[in-house]
Amino acid sequence: MAQNSTQKPTYQGGCHCGSVRFEINGTINDTVMCHCNLCRKLHGHVSSYARFDRQDLELVRDDGLRWYRLSEKTDRGFCKECGTGLFWRPVRTEHMAVMPGTLDQTGGIRTAGQIFCADKGDYYPLDPAIRQLDQS
Ligand SMILES: [Zn+2]
Ligand SMILES: [Zn+2]
Repeated sequence: MAQNSTQKPTYQGGCHCGSVRFEINGTINDTVMCHCNLCRKLHGHVSSYARFDRQDLELVRDDGLRWYRLSEKTDRGFCKECGTGLFWRPVRTEHMAVMPGTLDQTGGIRTAGQIFCADKGDYYPLDPAIRQLDQS
């Protein structure tokens, strides 16, 4: 991340195989870990989401990018070649979220909390150092 008074922060990221590369030219909020059943199903385990303004997203390479309509409210972006989960995009807001593990450098992003703790899997403990919410 590079930041000064005249320039927005810039983040680069992508999937494992390189068929999706992107830049986010703006602020990325602190990330939130989600323990819900759907996230654990989609990612194989707990996932994490960091919100940003969707107009700050620049797709440098998107031939692998596919959007999966999760529900009438939400799309999930992933690479069809290597399966990397990349984005979560509510249909009706100006925000979307990136899965922070796909960023090349995470800059100052921290984990703000963990949500849907009541739905967590019984095969792992919660981290007591991270603020816990039973729902979102
Ligand atoms: Zn890929
Ligand atoms: Zn979830």
